[in-house]
Amino acid sequence: MECREAQSLIVPFIKNELPMEQVEQFLKHIANCKDCKEELEIYYILMFGLQQLDEENATDLNLHGQFEARLAKSYSDIRKRKNRKKQMYVFVGMLIVFLTVLAINARERNMQKRAAERDAEKLFEDYKLYRPFENLEQGDTDKNKVLQETTHFYPLKE
Ligand SMILES: [Zn+2]
Repeated sequence: MECREAQSLIVPFIKNELPMEQVEQFLKHIANCKDCKEELEIYYILMFGLQQLDEENATDLNLHGQFEARLAKSYSDIRKRKNRKKQMYVFVGMLIVFLTVLAINARERNMQKRAAERDAEKLFEDYKLYRPFENLEQGDTDKNKVLQETTHFYPLKE
C-alpha cells in the first residue's frame, strides 16, 4: 500500500468504516511508515480530542494513550480474525479428510457387497445345475419321486 492510499484511508479507519481486509492492509502500512502513523494520530486527536474537550471530565485527557490503545485494539482484532480464519481452514480440512475416508469406506463396502452377491449368485447357479428339481410343485409326484431319489445324493438344505 502506498502512502497516498493509506492517507486516504485515515478518516474511514478512525470512523470504523473500513472492511477488515482493508484495515489489515492499512495497519500493515501504518506499522512500517512513521509519516502515515503520525498523520493518523493527528487526525485521531483532531476528531476525538476536540470532541472530548467539550465534555466535563477533560482533565485526564491522554489523547496519545487513547490513540495507541485504539491502534493496539485494531491490531488485536486483525490477529483474532486471522486466528479464527486459520482454525476454520483447519476445521474444513479435517472435515474434507473425514468425508473422504467415509466415502472410500462406503465404496469399499459396496464393492465387497457386490462381490459377495456375485459369489452368491454363482453359487446359486451351480446349485441349480446340481439340483434341477428343487423348484418342483408339491403335486408333481413323478418329479417328486425323482427329487427324493436325487436328494439322497444331494441332500436338501433345511
Ligand atoms: Zn506511509
